[in-house]
Amino acid sequence: GPSGLTSFWRAISTQAAEALKTQPSQLFIDGKFVDAASGKKFDVLDPTTGEAVFQVAEADAADVDKAVKAARRAFDQGEWPRMSGKQRGKILYRLAELIEQHAEELAHIESLDNGKPVVMSKIADIPLSADHFRYFAGWADKLTGKTIPCDNVFGKFFAYTLHEPLGVVGQIIPWNFPLLMLAWKVAPALAAGNCVVLKPAEQTPLNALRFAQLCNEAGIPPGTINILPGFGPTAGGAICDHPGVDKLAFTGSTEIGKLIMAAGAKRVVPVTLELGGKSPLIVDKNVDVDKAVEDTHFALFFNHGQCCAAGSRTFVHADIYDEFVEKAAKRAAKRKVGDPFSDVEQGPQVDEDQLKKILGYIDVAQREGARLLTGGKQHGSKGYFVEPTVFADVTDEMTIAQEEIFGPVQSILKYHTTEEVIERANANCYGLASGIISNDINFINTVSRSLKAGTVWVNCYNVYESAVPFGGYKMSGIGRDKGAYALEHYTQTKAVYQALEPNQPWLLPRPSSVH
Ligand code: NAD
Repeated sequence: GPSGLTSFWRAISTQAAEALKTQPSQLFIDGKFVDAASGKKFDVLDPTTGEAVFQVAEADAADVDKAVKAARRAFDQGEWPRMSGKQRGKILYRLAELIEQHAEELAHIESLDNGKPVVMSKIADIPLSADHFRYFAGWADKLTGKTIPCDNVFGKFFAYTLHEPLGVVGQIIPWNFPLLMLAWKVAPALAAGNCVVLKPAEQTPLNALRFAQLCNEAGIPPGTINILPGFGPTAGGAICDHPGVDKLAFTGSTEIGKLIMAAGAKRVVPVTLELGGKSPLIVDKNVDVDKAVEDTHFALFFNHGQCCAAGSRTFVHADIYDEFVEKAAKRAAKRKVGDPFSDVEQGPQVDEDQLKKILGYIDVAQREGARLLTGGKQHGSKGYFVEPTVFADVTDEMTIAQEEIFGPVQSILKYHTTEEVIERANANCYGLASGIISNDINFINTVSRSLKAGTVWVNCYNVYESAVPFGGYKMSGIGRDKGAYALEHYTQTKAVYQALEPNQPWLLPRPSSVH
């Protein structure tokens, strides 16, 4: 009954409040928690109420300089890049275990900070983060190069490659999966022997600092990882421009991704980018409509629509379009929205900027003639909640079919033929993810090979496995997170030629006239 629900809600909220009591609030530099050089702090807001619940130190250029110098020392002289891969792996396995041991409080802090239902933090964010560290712990002692036969005009050589760490890595991450996005970036970098300076998003700095505590507990040497809460143009910009940073990795908006790439270009440091998306999800004609509605609902509304890979263009075949649209609206209307510490599917959006941006898109959609079926407004008057919203009769040129909304707003588009839907699905500047719902193997094969997207989910969506690469085509990014592919971005290849025969002439045999 309702009273039972109230006590459930109170119990869980208390847990979040309890976890805040042990929450680190300072910058993590060289293995220690320290105040910002400026002494500045900023508020952490609870998106459920919009009220400040905590304060953390605010990093600026001076702190970034200190952190990069610590990371430089750790890389140039410290043990982390010099210890065996086995030893690094052992420490990373310990870190994975510590994340699991602290799963409860990490989940509550994640939901307090970001607004996602605590049940989702428990099922997805925290265990997937632990899994990521465990997966890359396994790689730490398997980063082998190649031996390459070399017998040529120069002589006989033993040639081989070494995969060496890149150095000090600057990483900047978003707020939608605070701990998991950290794991995607940090785990491969550390496994390969790099040192890290990471800035969490200003909206969600809490678990990154708890993670720093666990790094110390796991035995990661001081300076190997540094965590600097702060804002984009200040702390983020300083990381991008620091001459001691050897590589930049970023997840966030395409707009900021371009700035990161430009900063990397100035110093010729490699950049990996995981940016926005406008992912098509194509529903074939002969499918179970109820299941397709549920799958496409999850594809868009998971994490309140705050996923770069959200299935944000739902293409539905004309034969089932009317039935689908009606059922999709009913499903969204039933979506349970509310306090993330109660039994809900959807909590608040992360902040007021996002709330306003989403409501702005809903307004534009109506003015451009999309048909609003359900939702369309702020939910309640407190915090940053948005009603689950569904638009039908969306056409390709409408703003909501082209731009990333990053909110709980589903756009349904009608199509007639396979060729047509492939062309329309690809007619977008993004190419992050995509999906197909179909029982027709020929349709699945044709469409999955034609879509210009880094991921294709077939009869599923939002599936993530540490071992499987993730990243974008086109303006959705450069490079891949996750899997063995991620390691390529955190290693440098060195080629070594070793003369095989004693006293062999290692220069080209000279023309006789030279002698
Ligand atoms: P953002 O790109 O502005 O922020 C992402 C990270 O970059 C944050 O840590 C931020 O502090 C940092 N940053 C911002 N400006 C910077 C700068 N000049 N130099 C260095 N770092 C900088 O994203 P946002 O403002 O949080 O969200 C805006 C939009 O981005 C969203 O509406 C959504 O469309 C998209 N987004 C995408 C993802 C994703 O996973 N690809 C995640 C979050 C947001």
